[in-house]
Amino acid sequence: MIRDEDIVRVEAPRISAADRLYLTQIAQGMKVTLNHLFFKPRMTVQYPEQKREMNTQNYRGVHRLNRDPDGRVACVACFMCQTACPAHCIHIVADESPWEDREKYPQLFDIDELRCIYCGMCEEACPVDAIELTYEYDVVGRSRDEMIFDKEKLLEVYDSTKDVKPRKNPKITGYQRTGDRGKYDQLRDRLREMTQQSNPISAPHQTVDGERAPAPENKENA
Ligand code: SF4
Ligand code: SF4
Repeated sequence: MIRDEDIVRVEAPRISAADRLYLTQIAQGMKVTLNHLFFKPRMTVQYPEQKREMNTQNYRGVHRLNRDPDGRVACVACFMCQTACPAHCIHIVADESPWEDREKYPQLFDIDELRCIYCGMCEEACPVDAIELTYEYDVVGRSRDEMIFDKEKLLEVYDSTKDVKPRKNPKITGYQRTGDRGKYDQLRDRLREMTQQSNPISAPHQTVDGERAPAPENKENA
């Protein structure tokens, strides 16, 4: 039950005679219209012949899965992005890593780009900067299945966008700057310690649901 003292009564603002004529508001509106008509650059883009230049500092487009300096997938299959994702559109199957420097790697890594709300929480959660949202926005598919990007597709996006670092500008987004290799190595070592100290979220050859996953066919190209 709402108490009387919790109710806030709001009085309607008083409108003067000048306000009732709306002359000031019309003049302000005309000023904006004329300003755009004569002085502002035209914003119409003849898409798809012309493409708009995106601001890589704050735009969140299609994901990419980064490679490490040795060209391998940088993801260490820690499941933090999948856990953080509010839309539940990331699905990872972890497997025992074929490399000495990490415990696990993603055997499967799928993102449903149609279900994604492009909030950026996955890239924020990633401790090794393996997943990032790029400035690419014009990716199309003829079916919903085509819009589920698997690991190979996400690595392809990395290969085509690797020259631009989609580093979010902290002044705009509040994100912290991360991504230097020193930090990558520190976090990778820390993750390795953590997985040795506790039970991993998903054991090798096991999905998050605890089901046994098929072994990878070719780890060399992962
Ligand atoms: S951007 Fe947001 S919704 Fe999309 S995959 Fe990442 S965490 Fe999930
Ligand atoms: S948070 Fe990063 S390292 Fe962990 S599973 Fe996701 S992409 Fe891989």
